[in-house]
Amino acid sequence: DPILVAIDGPAGSGKSSVSRASADRLGFGILDTGAAYRALAWIALQAGVDLDTEAAVVQLMDAWAFSITMRGEQRVTVGLAGAEPIDATAAIREHSVSGQVSRVSKHPVVRERLNEMFRELVAASGLPGVVIEGRDITTVVAPDAPVRILMTASAEARASRRAGELEGLSHAQVLADIAARDAKDALVVDFFNPAPGVTLVDTSDLNFEQSVQTVIDIVEA
Ligand code: C5P
Repeated sequence: DPILVAIDGPAGSGKSSVSRASADRLGFGILDTGAAYRALAWIALQAGVDLDTEAAVVQLMDAWAFSITMRGEQRVTVGLAGAEPIDATAAIREHSVSGQVSRVSKHPVVRERLNEMFRELVAASGLPGVVIEGRDITTVVAPDAPVRILMTASAEARASRRAGELEGLSHAQVLADIAARDAKDALVVDFFNPAPGVTLVDTSDLNFEQSVQTVIDIVEA
């Protein structure tokens, strides 16, 4: 099985971009678990499924086909039984989706099913190692991973980074959106406090390169 590097953290901590660059440098793959939650929310919205009804979302998961690239540029496709898979790479990043994902990620059975899928994707990857990033990787998905990191950054630093990505939204708006999403997500998983044995990496005062190097140093220690 691949060597696992588990990385958790809130939105804007640098987790996604740093995980990706670290994986590339290590020759590992990357599994962005948030992309799966986003894709599920997106297809549920497309299909007119009530995101707040767990049974309806679980039923949708019986029919969906999800794929994500674990090397190179990210590509996400989603299909529903019988239909051609649709490229949802860009759509799942839209602001309208970000605000809805918590409505599917709050369901325990949905989480269990996705966690099973994540373990299968890793096992079938054929890669020497995989960086898995999300909110509950260090605690639930891969608590036995040899490397477990919780990446944090101040709310200010996180909003500044996201504001650069989301054109047209004010810094205050981005800060409010992140805080609202974190508050909802944190009801389900604690991704602000490291579990025992998890290394805390605060990127507030680190640039991108320093953040990547910090992860590499922890993996190679
Ligand atoms: O990481 P990202 O911000 O793309 O995640 C999108 C959403 O997916 C989060 O706001 C959260 O609701 C959910 N998520 C989760 N558990 C994970 C990864 C993401 O609940 N391991």
